[in-house]
Amino acid sequence: MQKVEINYGPKIDYRHCNGCSECYENCPMDVFGWDKEKQLPTVDYPGECSICCFCETMCPEAAIDVLIPLHQMLDFGIHPVTLTKKSKFLGVD
Ligand code: SF4
Ligand code: SF4
Repeated sequence: MQKVEINYGPKIDYRHCNGCSECYENCPMDVFGWDKEKQLPTVDYPGECSICCFCETMCPEAAIDVLIPLHQMLDFGIHPVTLTKKSKFLGVD
């Protein structure tokens, strides 16, 4: 099966993750897997993510950033050009 790259959903910053497993146990869409060897979560099914941002909100280490798909941004009236301008303004691009 061809692997499809998904550029939205949860991204874990492993520099901050403490392996508490809250995200893995509580994601309503079962997006996360669990690496038994490392005792850390993995993002196994990002395409199933409903962008509810529950994991990002409850992570005690603020180690998760949920990336929002472009079509959802447009639904909320956020234009990519606006984001580019803002990121330049903030110096984060
Ligand atoms: S909730 Fe946060 S700290 Fe806990 S396992 Fe998930 S990413 Fe790591
Ligand atoms: S945003 Fe919601 S559905 Fe997506 S991984 Fe986090 S908890 Fe699961």
